[in-house]
Amino acid sequence: MPGTCLAPKVEETAQLGPRPTVGPGAAPTIGPVRTTAELREGYLSFFESKGHLRRQSASLIPRADDRSTLLTSAGMQPQMPYFLGREPPPAPTTTTVQKCFRTPDIDEVGLDTYHLTFFEMLGNFSFGQYFKEGAIELATEFVRDRMGLDWERVWASVFAGDPELGLGPDETAIELWERIGMPPERIVRLPASENFWSVGGPGPCGPDSEIYYDRGAEVGCGRPECAPGCACERYLEIWNLVFMEFELHADGKLTPLPQQNIDTGMGLERAVTTLQDVISVYDTDGYRTIMGWIASESGVAYEDSPEATKAHRILADHGRGMTFLAADGVSPANEGRGYVMRRVVRRAVQQASRIGLEPPFLAGLADVVIEQMGDAYPELPEHRGDIHRILSAEEERFSQTLARGLRLFEEVATGPEIAGEDAFLLHDTYGFPIELTQELARERGLGVNEEEFTRLMAAQRERSRAAAPTALEIRVESGVKTRFVGYEKVEVLTALASVAPFEDGLFQAKLHESPFYPEGGGQVSDVGFVENEATGVRAELRQAVRLEGDDQLLVFEGVGFAEGDRVRAVVPWSVRFPTMANHTATHLLHKALQDVLGDHVRQAGSAVRPDKLRFDFTHPQALTAEERAEVERRVNEKVFENLPVHAFVTPIDEARRLGAMMLFGEKYGEHVRVVEVDGYSRELCGGTHVRSTAEIGPFVVLSESSVGAGARRIEAVTSGEAWALLQGRAHEADELRAELERVRKERKRAPEAAAEADVVVRRKDGGVLVAETTALSGGALRDLSDRLKQREHALAVLLGSAVDGRAFLVVNLDRSLAEKGLDAAAVVREVAPIIGGGGGGRPTLAEAGGRDPNKLEEALAAAERHILSALA
Ligand code: ATP
Ligand code: MG
Repeated sequence: MPGTCLAPKVEETAQLGPRPTVGPGAAPTIGPVRTTAELREGYLSFFESKGHLRRQSASLIPRADDRSTLLTSAGMQPQMPYFLGREPPPAPTTTTVQKCFRTPDIDEVGLDTYHLTFFEMLGNFSFGQYFKEGAIELATEFVRDRMGLDWERVWASVFAGDPELGLGPDETAIELWERIGMPPERIVRLPASENFWSVGGPGPCGPDSEIYYDRGAEVGCGRPECAPGCACERYLEIWNLVFMEFELHADGKLTPLPQQNIDTGMGLERAVTTLQDVISVYDTDGYRTIMGWIASESGVAYEDSPEATKAHRILADHGRGMTFLAADGVSPANEGRGYVMRRVVRRAVQQASRIGLEPPFLAGLADVVIEQMGDAYPELPEHRGDIHRILSAEEERFSQTLARGLRLFEEVATGPEIAGEDAFLLHDTYGFPIELTQELARERGLGVNEEEFTRLMAAQRERSRAAAPTALEIRVESGVKTRFVGYEKVEVLTALASVAPFEDGLFQAKLHESPFYPEGGGQVSDVGFVENEATGVRAELRQAVRLEGDDQLLVFEGVGFAEGDRVRAVVPWSVRFPTMANHTATHLLHKALQDVLGDHVRQAGSAVRPDKLRFDFTHPQALTAEERAEVERRVNEKVFENLPVHAFVTPIDEARRLGAMMLFGEKYGEHVRVVEVDGYSRELCGGTHVRSTAEIGPFVVLSESSVGAGARRIEAVTSGEAWALLQGRAHEADELRAELERVRKERKRAPEAAAEADVVVRRKDGGVLVAETTALSGGALRDLSDRLKQREHALAVLLGSAVDGRAFLVVNLDRSLAEKGLDAAAVVREVAPIIGGGGGGRPTLAEAGGRDPNKLEEALAAAERHILSALA
């Protein structure tokens, strides 16, 4: 049984434990290791002492011929050409410390103590030299004698066998572990999902054996059956030994490899936790500087709160990851590796905001990484300038929208699910990678409508693709012809007939059967994906190109696909269905336009997309409101009649006889496909359609406009989009009504409110109010003086106004003053010359006008003196 104390004292245990009964038996040449740097160097020198060639870490960007991952994720990856026999290895046995980045682990980071995106993998490789026995002996010697781990706490897992692969348990490995001193109870058997390694398709493969370290019952789940392979943190996997002994063929059969190879990988950071008596990689010496920096820059301690712990971990890990990525030349982008970079930078910036660490800070964070790791990785100090530039630019870009994006998120995070439109808006306007929105949602127990998000992204891609069509160089073999099955199905099990690498992250392919509609006849290409049946790996359709003779070529983004692979090819219903609805609606629209406007109407172009349809047609002038409404009404009428829609192939002459609409100048084959809306329209068409018109749902015209002489364009929406539009309009109408109501009420309360906005009251002495305004004269100015008198309870109002270089002045007196003998007209006559004019009026209300607005103030003051002295 494993002991209860957490970690051994290295000095004590280094000498303990049974010696291996088999093995190279070389005397130790280096002492025990304790620190990250010592383990890194100690590993390489240990394997050098065992005859391995020490080699540099390869770049995080895989070789051009390696399309298995976007970023190097294991020490084995750069060795693949040697394992596959494509290139001779530089030596029969080699050893490396490889920089690794694991994109699938991004979301784990922050939540547990041992998953990093960026880590270093220690590895030793044998190309046809030692096999299971040598690998197990070397690993045992290193773990027990050099790292000095308490042997009682070391466990091993082996492959349990798998009937589907036709393989039994890895008895050889079990026997070897027992021989070297591992008691049977510490050897666990795990299934193929855990302990069988393959490249994710045809190629070399084999069982593996992992070394685990027992961190003590205190950190475990406490279940009696807890053992390596358990999801809890007690048994930490530190080292994986892969025994490459088979080749997997396309038909699923395994044959022995002519030459057996060894690939091993040990995570440096995890291994150091076992050496340093700590639970978390973040507590090891390799993270001390960066964790300290984060705490002091933010002013928040690492374990201040669960939220702070998560933020610190993410900043430490992503900070290292982004620094190494930048040093290897990866810049943020919307696709491929660049997108991985974008995700980690943005996630880091968002997490930093939670502990009050405000941009710009990434250059400083990178400097800490460079300082800590620059000795082992000279590319870091060498590219310091590039690293700063790449990270700071992305940081600045995102920090401009982060706060507003987070506010929007707060507003929309109400229901059980974030709507696809909101996720799209967060992505499109605020730069939130979908994974970030998903993480924020997850933190509150919410979901995200991914399907809708994907649909909106696809629609956007379609738009930009339509805007910039590219000529494609065909790389796949042209021999096979693809059968299009998309009229009947949106999903099909088929195989890749030909595969060829294409641009960065893309590959071209031909399928035996395809549900993907390639752009044509106005209908845009489908979106969708293929999923490898054997591995579950997906590749997204990026382009579907129509080739001659109803053939097609597909471009996918993804990796891990080869000729002959069985795949599931899928068009999401959420994209295909609205496209079909829009296409059938286009036919109805065509016919309705002819019926309403006349037979001269001919299709001049069309674009059928999932989000809307566009139809260009010949017609000399704009539609009247009545015509437009009538066309819309007729289409909806046909929808609600629920007419069946059929398609059939017929000789061209027969189609002509049936009066099917054809496009002028289009070349048709001898047999043509006719799409018929029962009793209403017949058109030659290769597109995909709904089965009956009611599926179209509401049809709403968005706009009608000119596209050059003699041609018009109608844009319209159907089904869900139309409903959303109508909802929106109803909502707007409601709001408008409410706004009108509000304005009306306000008018009633204070009818003068608007007109008084510009008045400046100068003073009010002894009941005499002096005020100025602009742009008013005559009746409006007199009215305003009345309202001021009332509102301010004034006995007299003297109101001046400057209008377009002229001056106006009103004297408005309370009746009581007139009764005392004061005369407004007399006052006006007295002061009018000051503004260079004249005036007159009644005893209570008089007005002057003049040429000199600069003298208004003087004239007002004179009038005020006149009245005040009369009252005194
Ligand atoms: P896990 O199941 O813990 O994710 P894995 O099975 O994916 O590990 P391998 O692919 O066998 O790991 O990689 C070999 C070694 O690399 C592991 O034993 C571990 O020490 C280390 N390693 C793998 N993934 C990570 C990671 N995300 N962070 C740190 N070290 C890792
Ligand atoms: Mg893993």
